[in-house]
Amino acid sequence: MAKRDYYEVLGVSKGASKDEIKKAYRKLSKQYHPDINKEAGADEKFKEISEAYEVLSDDNKKAQYDQFGHAGMGQGAGFSGGDFGGFGGFEDIFSSFFGGGGARRNPNAPQKGNDLQYQMTINFEEAIFGAEREITVKKEVACDVCEGTGAEPGTSVTTCPTCHGRGQVGVEQNTPFGRIRTERPCPDCQGTGKKIEEPCHECHGDGTILKNVTINVTIPAGVDNGQQIRVAGHGEPGINGGPAGDLYVVFRVNSHDLFERDGDDIFHTLDLTFAQAALGDEIEIPTLYGKVRLTIPAGTQTGRRFRLRDKGVENVHGYGKGDQFVTVNVKTPTNMTEQQVELLREFAEIDGEEIDEQHDNFFDKTRRFFRGE
Ligand SMILES: [Zn+2]
Ligand SMILES: [Zn+2]
Repeated sequence: MAKRDYYEVLGVSKGASKDEIKKAYRKLSKQYHPDINKEAGADEKFKEISEAYEVLSDDNKKAQYDQFGHAGMGQGAGFSGGDFGGFGGFEDIFSSFFGGGGARRNPNAPQKGNDLQYQMTINFEEAIFGAEREITVKKEVACDVCEGTGAEPGTSVTTCPTCHGRGQVGVEQNTPFGRIRTERPCPDCQGTGKKIEEPCHECHGDGTILKNVTINVTIPAGVDNGQQIRVAGHGEPGINGGPAGDLYVVFRVNSHDLFERDGDDIFHTLDLTFAQAALGDEIEIPTLYGKVRLTIPAGTQTGRRFRLRDKGVENVHGYGKGDQFVTVNVKTPTNMTEQQVELLREFAEIDGEEIDEQHDNFFDKTRRFFRGE
C-alpha cells in the first residue's frame, strides 16, 4: 500500500505552522491511541500519525520530506553535503519506527535540540574571499517566561500519570508473527514524562516560542557551491537542560560573467583575433586578484590553454591555491572590408592555396555592400 502524505495524515495544510502540526498530532494521537481506541485499525492509524508527526515536527526531516517526499526519508537520501560534515543521517528516525528494541530513551535525560538548516545564496567573490553576513532565522527558542519548563511561573510540574514519567506507553499489535509489544510516545505528555498543572501563558506549555533570531555567519573564504558550515549552538534549544542543536548553513554560489570555477581552479576564455593569434601579442587578463599581463606567442592555436599559477581560489581548508586557466578562442574574421578580403585572398595565394570561395555567403555580400550595389 502506498504511504499516505504526512500532511494528509495529520489533516493539516502544507504551510501549517509548528503549532498547528503539534495540535493536530495531540488531537489525533488521543483519538487513536490503542489504549483508548479499541476499534480495528486504530493501532495502524496511531502508528501512521506518530510517524507523520516525528517527521513534520523536526525541521530537518520536514525540509527533507517537503523536498523529496517519502523517498527523502531513506537513509543517506537527499543531502549530498559538502566537506564540512553532514547531518546525522536518519538512523534515529529508523530506530524509532522499526527498531522496537532500541535503547529506551529516558524522557528526563538531557537531549540535544534539533538542528536547523539555512540556505544562503552568495555571490562568486564572496565564496572566494569570504564575508560576514547577518541572517535572520525564525526558530524555536526557550520561552523566557517559564525558562523552558512550560509551566506557569509559580506552578508545579508533576510526573505524567499515564506513563508514570517514562514518556512511553506499551502498545500490543497483532502481526503475522504473533503479538508484538512495542513502545510508543505517551499521548498525554508527548513523551516528556511530565504533567504541567498550569501551562505557561506565553508558550502554552511548550517551553519554547517561535522567534526571529539574528545570527552572524562567517562565510569561509574558498567555500564552494553546495558546501555547508555548522554554526554550533544556533539550532533549537535542548530539552531537559541538554545542549542546543546546530545551525547548518548551506551555500549556493551565483555564477560569474567572466570566470568559471571547478574546485579551486578558475577557467576563463580569451578571444583572440586571427592577427593576434598569428603574430603574437601581450594582453591584459582579468584574474581574481586584478589584471595580469599574458604573452601570447606568435602562431597560437585556438584551444591552447595558458596556466596562470596561483591565480585560482585559496583552498577553504588551507591546502594552497588553485590556478587560473586561460583558453584561447581564435575568432574568425567576419564583416571584413573589401581591402581585407583582397589581402586575405592574396595571403592564400602566397600559400599556394586554391580556395573555392563561397560567393553566396558573406564575401560576396560584403563586396556588394561596399560597392553600394
Ligand atoms: Zn513558557
Ligand atoms: Zn506521559
